[in-house]
Amino acid sequence: MRIAVIALQGDFERHIVRLGEIGADVVSARLPSDIDSADGIVLPGGESTTIGKLMIRYGIDAAIKRAHAAGKPIYGTCAGMILLASEIAAETAEHGGQPVLGLMDLTVARNAYGRQIDSFESTLTDARLPGLPDGGKNLEAVFIRAPAILRAGPTVDILASHEGRPVLVRQANLLASSFHPELTKDTRVHEYFLSMAER
Ligand code: GLN
Repeated sequence: MRIAVIALQGDFERHIVRLGEIGADVVSARLPSDIDSADGIVLPGGESTTIGKLMIRYGIDAAIKRAHAAGKPIYGTCAGMILLASEIAAETAEHGGQPVLGLMDLTVARNAYGRQIDSFESTLTDARLPGLPDGGKNLEAVFIRAPAILRAGPTVDILASHEGRPVLVRQANLLASSFHPELTKDTRVHEYFLSMAER
């Protein structure tokens, strides 16, 4: 199972480490060909505007859309989730708009979890990851200037929530989280993602 972690900017290294720990063959992807040869893709956290612009510059956006059309699983964390979303709440988007892939039926608000508490940890008691230990319950989640999901379309499945808002969602071969599972020792979200790539 070869997973391409988009390595243009942001927190890609921890994803590479975590996926390697659970047995994936991981490529640090900077070229469209790195994506074309992979079975799945991870879009890391970072700065969504920067990653979005670099994706277009290097033709990575088109390669990700090809992978999506081919049914390959794609997982976006934090900034990666913003890039997958179909809509960014206008008041939180970069002035003049910002590039997104628009693959997932979500409306997200950037930096939505408060200015004072830019980062926090929480245990997601209602998390549901079929086939994984404890069914995915009690997932450790780290939020860093995290985006909130304001709206999830009818084909989006909510796999975990925090204070009534979805924070881990799936739509067919797309997975997205507001939080960063790569920063904890709990590898269940990454394992779940690999199980999506196996099918
Ligand atoms: N605040 C970032 C953005 O809006 C996302 C933060 C993150 O990925 N940890 O792009």
